[in-house]
Amino acid sequence: MYLKKIEAQGFKSFANKMVLEFNPGIMGIVGPNGSGKSNVADAVRWVLGEQSAKSLRGNNMQDVIFAGTENRKPQGYAYVGLTIDNSDHMLAIDFDEVTISRRVYRSGESEYLINGGACRLKDIYELFYDTGVGKEGYSIIGQGQIDRILSGKPEERRELFDEAAGIVKFKKRRQVAAKK
Ligand code: ATP
Ligand code: MG
Repeated sequence: MYLKKIEAQGFKSFANKMVLEFNPGIMGIVGPNGSGKSNVADAVRWVLGEQSAKSLRGNNMQDVIFAGTENRKPQGYAYVGLTIDNSDHMLAIDFDEVTISRRVYRSGESEYLINGGACRLKDIYELFYDTGVGKEGYSIIGQGQIDRILSGKPEERRELFDEAAGIVKFKKRRQVAAKK
């Protein structure tokens, strides 16, 4: 499994359609301060279901929508699509390529899609449990996160090990079953 493509439109500084294609291996994104490097990482976390505006460096959820510039009108919606090569079928879905997408309008209306079909946020979370990829996964290590992991509470650190051990989905199912 590897990240193949990120598409964004109207998301943060990406007013125009932005497409980044990746190959297996290492790739770096470089650019001057304020050019949008961190916005790329925010786009990935957002499409994976990040619900906290603060962790996306905004005040409210609409802050991810391109706010306009002096000579450019604001956008009405933000869109991000993430395409993953799933030819090794690490994701439990019967497709060799999986595209997760999310769109949010200024009105607050929003939608999630898996391969073009509308889905619930829960479906996105479930698809990525135990893969390390989800919004809480360790595949995205933000600034200051190493510090938080080292100095965090044991329970928080435990969540990381649970994900790596592949037992999150069982724990979640047990929680749901216990509530019934
Ligand atoms: P650094 O090297 O300083 O970390 P960076 O390349 O990571 O910089 P980002 O933080 O990704 O830069 O981008 C910040 C830019 O994104 C700012 O110029 C900010 O104005 C712009 N930006 C953020 N949200 C929006 C939005 N909703 N609409 C328009 N522009 C936005
Ligand atoms: Mg940055």
